[in-house]
Amino acid sequence: MDRKQFLTRSLKATMGAVVAGPVILHANSCASPGDPQNAPEIGPSIAGTGPLVFAQAPLPYAFAALEPHIDARTMELHYSKHHAGYVKKINEAIAEEKIDASDEVDLFARIPSWSAKARNNGGGAWNHDLFWKLMGPGNTGTPNGKVLDAINASFGSFDGFKEAFTDAAMKRFGSGWAWLVEQEGKLVIGSTPNQDNPLMADAELRGKPLLGLDVWEHAYYLNYQNKRNDYVTAWWSVVDWDVVAGRLG
Ligand code: MN
Repeated sequence: MDRKQFLTRSLKATMGAVVAGPVILHANSCASPGDPQNAPEIGPSIAGTGPLVFAQAPLPYAFAALEPHIDARTMELHYSKHHAGYVKKINEAIAEEKIDASDEVDLFARIPSWSAKARNNGGGAWNHDLFWKLMGPGNTGTPNGKVLDAINASFGSFDGFKEAFTDAAMKRFGSGWAWLVEQEGKLVIGSTPNQDNPLMADAELRGKPLLGLDVWEHAYYLNYQNKRNDYVTAWWSVVDWDVVAGRLG
């Protein structure tokens, strides 16, 4: 696909806006990662004809923007090495296996049909794209409005919710993600192994992802070493609850 086709498809997808997930394809491949001047617009991924192509959107803030909670070096490696690797390898898998998914929702709905490479790297590409957008500098640390109402209804209180979410993050043995998902109007907390996500047909936890926390050691080890609980505690300070509100149906 050349740049013109790429831009045309991006525009069509933006106009169509049918996909529930975060943007994965982005036409502005020249932007510098970590430069807030080049923050991506938020839109859907491509749902058109031809093979699905993932692209890494520019990080919507500087690498150091989440300090002291998440350090700049961790952010740089996480975005530039780990996430970039997943994006590269899912595109390889799509080509190698001739994957005909129309968008990431379709890909994950049929993920058992394809290889571990497609599963792990497709999940890795999508999960991190969401993760970057769920964080940002200058957040209050607490939700309000409809998100707070929904959390109170499901978990009793925000503190009760944080306790249950932290428990899910701590009990995920090895690498994986903790999630808050929406299941038929109800909020549910759980976790998935590796780069699985709740959109995958055979995931341990299913639903529409509202909030996701990366608990792989690569997400925290430089700053927090083995203290995952300290990372989770600090992470609440950078969660952008407005983004969660935008995802809540
Ligand atoms: Mn990660």
